[in-house]
Amino acid sequence: MQKGQTLAMLLVVVLIIAIIAAFIYIGQQTPTNRQSGQQAQTTYGAALERAEEVECVNNLHQIRQAIQMFVAEQGANPPNLPSVRFPAGVQPICPIAKVPYTYDPTTGTVKCPQHSRF
Ligand SMILES: [Zn+2]
Repeated sequence: MQKGQTLAMLLVVVLIIAIIAAFIYIGQQTPTNRQSGQQAQTTYGAALERAEEVECVNNLHQIRQAIQMFVAEQGANPPNLPSVRFPAGVQPICPIAKVPYTYDPTTGTVKCPQHSRF
């Protein structure tokens, strides 16, 4: 076998691997996130987005528990979020989008404007 032939075969193998890798990368792309309107480019991007949502959901969960404790103690919904005593480290803002949560004193519900489905 000649030296030139070996190099050509190596280049063909590298090209085939590159094509397969490109197909795998394209196959991992996910459709647009319909809820937030943001586009997750890759599986990694989608996983990162989900991890951030978990952080927001966890924050909202602790705030809702604090509101429930307020209701149990006072017998009524808190008039606003600052009147609620939150656990240490919990703020009434989205830890990801840094926007304040919206609070409805009539229903006692708190939501994140950025992650509206929670
Ligand atoms: Zn959020």
